[in-house]
Amino acid sequence: MDPDLEHLKQHFPLLDYLLRHNWTPCRRSARQELVGLCPLHRDTRPSFYVNACRNLFYCHGCGQGGDLIRFVELFLHVPFRQSVAHLRQELALTASSVGAAELLTRAAAFYQLQLHRSPEAVRYLESRGLRDFAIIEELGIGYAPGGNLRRHLTSLGYSSELLRTTGLIGSEGRDAFCRRVIIPCREDDRIVNLYGRSIGAAFPHRLLPRSRGGLFAWQSVRHNCSVILVEGLFDLAVLWQSGFRNTTSALGTHLTPVQLNQLCSSPDRLLYIAFDQDENRAGQQSAQQLARRLKCVGVTVRIVRLPAGHDPNSYFVAGATAADFAACLKGAQRL
Ligand SMILES: [Zn+2]
Repeated sequence: MDPDLEHLKQHFPLLDYLLRHNWTPCRRSARQELVGLCPLHRDTRPSFYVNACRNLFYCHGCGQGGDLIRFVELFLHVPFRQSVAHLRQELALTASSVGAAELLTRAAAFYQLQLHRSPEAVRYLESRGLRDFAIIEELGIGYAPGGNLRRHLTSLGYSSELLRTTGLIGSEGRDAFCRRVIIPCREDDRIVNLYGRSIGAAFPHRLLPRSRGGLFAWQSVRHNCSVILVEGLFDLAVLWQSGFRNTTSALGTHLTPVQLNQLCSSPDRLLYIAFDQDENRAGQQSAQQLARRLKCVGVTVRIVRLPAGHDPNSYFVAGATAADFAACLKGAQRL
């Protein structure tokens, strides 16, 4: 066999491909094969068998079987060569997203180290009510003093070109997050983006030009029977610090389809929306819209009212206690 094809098949197991395309095994056979519904024909009784060790499949319903390339031929109705080209492309995409996650992890670690060397950043965190170093550590909060990120990352072997395409450095080679407090956004423990809050005169919010992922820290929040949704990560940070660990954020008021699906994933969940109480009522209107939308799909929603002009962060900075916020939750508006 062509060594190139052998390499492709080794680096792209059949089972990975199937799982990535939403195939769900429902049991294991006596011969340790995974069994599920066949993606190739209208199957009602699981008849699709996958041997993960040998990288082969066989369907007892439609009689089709073979390796990954054969599966793609049948699945996408394409000839052999197109099937191989498709797999090569998918493999390259996986490699580049793994590479980017690794790069973002390195950048985040660098920023985290800088935080403790930057009194101006620590003062900023204090001004936003964040004092608990365990929370700061847990959220992986860092600081970009500017200037030295590129040198650090190129010394680790990353090309300036890659740093530019990721958006970490600008066209003049400067740190794009210069003078920003950094909070990494994670998805399944992998960093997918970095949020940077300006501590100077620059536009307050900045994300890298890539997906911000699902809801913030959803892994740790999703199992709670009640969830608090806030706009910003500093709202989230002070709420976590005050014991409301069931708080998540969509980084704004406009939820992506992925984030909406996450909120709808459990019918028993009670959702509190605690958006900003803006003078122009933007936050309140977004909260109402979102609440109506979620109510339609069966989520129980309450809208939290804070004193005028406040968001959860400023409310705590102004001296509110956990008991005050709990009272706001208790008095939240039902829909
Ligand atoms: Zn079949």
